[in-house]
Order: sequence, then C-alpha cells, then structure tokens
Amino acid sequence: DAVVHWFKMDLRVSDNRALFLAGEKAREAGVPLIGLYVVSPQDFEAHLRAPVRVDFMLRTLRVLREDLGKLDIPLWVETVGKRREVPGRVVELMEGWGARHLFVNVEYEVDELRREAKMARMLMEKGMTLQVAHDTCVVPPGALKSGSGRQYAVYTPWYRSWVKHVHENLELLEMSEPPARNPPEARLKLAGLFDCEIPRAPEGKRLTKEEEKKFAALWPAGEHEAKKRLAKFCEDVIARYADSRNIPSVSGTSSLSVHFASGTLSARTAVRTARDSNNTKRLDGGNQGIQTWISEVAWRDFYKHVLVNWPYVCMNKPFKPEYSNIEWSYDQDHFQAWTEGRTGFPIVDAAMRQLKGMGWVHNRCRMIVASFLSKDLLLDWRMGERYFMEHLVDGDFASNNGGWGFSASVGVDPQPYFRVFNPLLQSEKFDPDGDYIRKWVPELKGVMGKAIHDPYGRGAEVIAKKAGYPRPIVEHKGARERALVAYKAGLESG
Ligand code: FAD
Repeated sequence: DAVVHWFKMDLRVSDNRALFLAGEKAREAGVPLIGLYVVSPQDFEAHLRAPVRVDFMLRTLRVLREDLGKLDIPLWVETVGKRREVPGRVVELMEGWGARHLFVNVEYEVDELRREAKMARMLMEKGMTLQVAHDTCVVPPGALKSGSGRQYAVYTPWYRSWVKHVHENLELLEMSEPPARNPPEARLKLAGLFDCEIPRAPEGKRLTKEEEKKFAALWPAGEHEAKKRLAKFCEDVIARYADSRNIPSVSGTSSLSVHFASGTLSARTAVRTARDSNNTKRLDGGNQGIQTWISEVAWRDFYKHVLVNWPYVCMNKPFKPEYSNIEWSYDQDHFQAWTEGRTGFPIVDAAMRQLKGMGWVHNRCRMIVASFLSKDLLLDWRMGERYFMEHLVDGDFASNNGGWGFSASVGVDPQPYFRVFNPLLQSEKFDPDGDYIRKWVPELKGVMGKAIHDPYGRGAEVIAKKAGYPRPIVEHKGARERALVAYKAGLESG
C-alpha cells in the first residue's frame, strides 16, 4: 500500500495542506508517501502557459524532487499527451504502486474542477479514495458571504469580511508541517521511482539556451528562493510599500507573484510573515505598508473567490453580461504595435518591453497597458488577456482575468468605464524622471526632462526620429472620446 500526493500549483514541501494530510495518512498506516506530478503538454496549450512559466515550473520540480528526496519521498513526473487521459493515467499509476489514497489541493478553474470530479468517480469505482484540501487561498472560496447571503462583488466590503474572518479563525494562518520521512524500507521498495527524470519543456514551450540562462538568473526557482525573497522583502521593503508600490523604476514590490502562481510560496505563510513583521497582531493595523501589502495578497484570494462563484468568467465572457455588446476593434496593426512596444507612448512601450524582457510587469504598468489596449485602441480586452498569459512568468487565470476585467471596465468591481487612464499623466506621475522608460526603451535614452513622456509632442522629435522611435499610433483625446461612445452604445444596446 502507499499514499500519493498529486502536486499541481502547490510545488512546495512546507505549509502545504494536502501534502501534510497525505503525510499523516501514510504515517498512521505505516506506508510510504509518493509525490506525483503530471506534465500535460495539451494543458499547457489550453491554459496558454508562457514558455517562461513552463521553464520556471520545470526548474521548480527539480528543487521539489531534491527536497522530497531528503525525506525519502520520491517525486514521479509523468507526461500524458492528452489531457482527458490524465485521470485514467493517475489511477493506473496508483494501481501499479499499490496505492489506495490520493491527496490533492483543489484548483478552482472550471476544467480542473471537472477533472477532479471525474477523478473522484474513477477512484471510487476502484475502491480508492480522494481527499481534497483548500490550500491556495488564505480564506477558502465560499466562506465569505455578504449580509444578503451572496458572494461579494465589490472588493472593499469583501476585504473587511476577509480580515474579520481570519481574525476569528486564526488557524487559517497556521502553517502545515512538512510530511514525515518515509519508512526506511521505502528507498528499496520504491527504488525505481527515485530515478525519475524531469522532462524538457514540450515543443512550442521551449526557451532558447540564452533565454533559459537569463530567466534562471532573474527568477530562481523553488520554495527556498521564495522564502528568502519574502524574508528580505519583509525586512527591507514592506514598511515603505504603501509609497513605493506604484513606482515601476524602483524595486518597491515583492516580486513574489511567480511563487504564488506556482505554489512555491503559500499565501498563508506570506500573510503570517508580513503580520509578524508588524507591531500588531491585526492584519489591518500597524504599519501602513504592511497593511497595504496584506490587502494586495488578499486581492489574489478575491479573484479566486470570484472564479468559484461566477465560473462563466472562465469561458471568455465578461463578468458583467451587459458589456457583451461593445463593438471592439480587431485592428491587427494596432495590436502588433502594442505587443511589440511600438505604440509611440513611451510608458506603454516600456511596459510591453518589460513583459517580453522579464516575463513580468509592474502592476501599475499592467493597468496602464491594459487600459491603453481596451480604451485607447478599443481592442477586445480578451486579446490582451491572452497575450499576457502567453508571456507572464506569473500568469494566473483568476488574477489576470480580474486585472483585465478591472482595467477594461468589464470585470467584477471594475474601474468605471468613463475613467480612462491618460498615458501621459500616468507616465508623469509614476515615472516622473523617466528612469523606467529609459531602461526599457533605449531609443529614448538621450531624451532629457519631461520630453521623455511624449518625445514628439515636447520637442525631442529629432532624437526620437533618428533613433527610429515611432510616433503615437493614436491621439489620446480622440481615442478616449471614441471609447466612451463605444462603451455607452454597447451598454445601451444590452
Ligand atoms: P506585490 O505588490 O508585492 O503584491 C503581493 C502579491 O499580492 C502579488 O504577488 C500577488 O499575488 C498579489 N496581488 C497584488 N496585486 C494583485 C492584484 N491586483 N490582483 C491579484 N493579486 C494581486 N497577478 C498575477 O499573479 N498573475 C497574473 O497573471 C496577473 N495579471 C494581471 C493583469 C492585469 C491587467 C493587472 C492589472 C494585474 C495583474 N496581476 C496579476 C496582478 C498584479 O499586477 C501582480 O500580482 C503584481 O504585479 C505582481 O508583482 P509583485 O509580486 O511584486 O506584487
């Protein structure tokens, strides 16, 4: 007999709810614990996994294999071509290992919930058990209800209720212990499983050798890196987060999203560690930076709760049905200019180049480029949402969909549609000295002073032209008017 923990977006040993339960089950039964990970290239396609994200995940698996190995727990990595064959293959593997109990942390996306339901049926037919745990959110979806008994569709009251719920259920922040070491005979009994190779990224999701090197240095993988980064952030930066979080030229945020997205860091550990660095036990008290950071981590919970309550957001539909009738543009030249960072709006172009260069973009700039795509260019926001997923190292369906819904004003608790970011004002406010722009748009390196925000409009035309920097592809004021008309018309026809 054996117990299996199926790793998914929870690629860590410490503070992992289902892994802890699996370990307990194995210890009580005196049987070994086996870790399993299923690579499904078709899943990568369906979920638009960015090559840089796949690479991060495969590097993480190596760390995980080593950490589990120290506990004499093997990590078996199985590649399954077709994703509908995944549950059947998991059952086959379990049969081969003589395992009767499977443990997983729930993933809340529609496809994954369906797969879990299928999995549960198949296991039941074989007399096997499936135990699921809530792990990825601090507060499990479904736990918070508004006064009228519904899921909150507005963040602020939801957040108040989130804080209250955590304060009243402090076990939600408690850490789960890593599983106990496997019995000594496990090494012998499961010998073949310890030699499992971590596969290469599948065709179409592969980085070049150069990119592999660059991204490995930018985003070191594994839970130890995550913990180090969290500790350093809590020591050096978090107290100033409220002021520094909006300035993309400084490292004022945690850069932990890649770890949350792959599960190399648990949100519980993050919130608990942040709270413990505060001089209060409250999540909404004490240092302003710490409070603000915790409330940002809570946004991640919020969007996952939204996904569970309104699963149709997984199906390419706007959260607000009345926004289905907006007539979007599908202008390929505009879209290409946006993806390439050649719109002629320096702050937009810097952000889009940061996306390609790092697989990550500062939150302020994600909002700026999302607003620009959906309002200034009136392009279908889903084109941008998709492009982000295809390029982000931290691509996460719920947060990405939520962020696009917010910026394009079609999501839950969105920016009102008539609030259109002015890229020039955003640039002046959040990149006042142009350092961020100069870093990512080297054509404008020689442009001094305020001209950096709008080289063609502010007298730096000669430099910009000579360097081949494009003129703005739209005129903001007119584009804004066009967006307002289109949004209004869409809403009225709905
Ligand atoms: P910090 O400022 O240090 O915040 C800490 C953590 O809180 C983040 O790591 C993240 O897990 C969470 N968080 C912060 N802001 C948000 C938010 N607005 N929504 C949800 N969670 C948040 N985040 C993703 O993790 N994956 C995505 O695919 C993603 N796509 C986005 C798309 C758009 C259009 C927008 C506007 C935002 C998106 N975000 C996404 C949210 C946010 O931009 C990133 O989480 C953040 O920039 C990550 O940097 P950080 O770890 O330094 O954040």
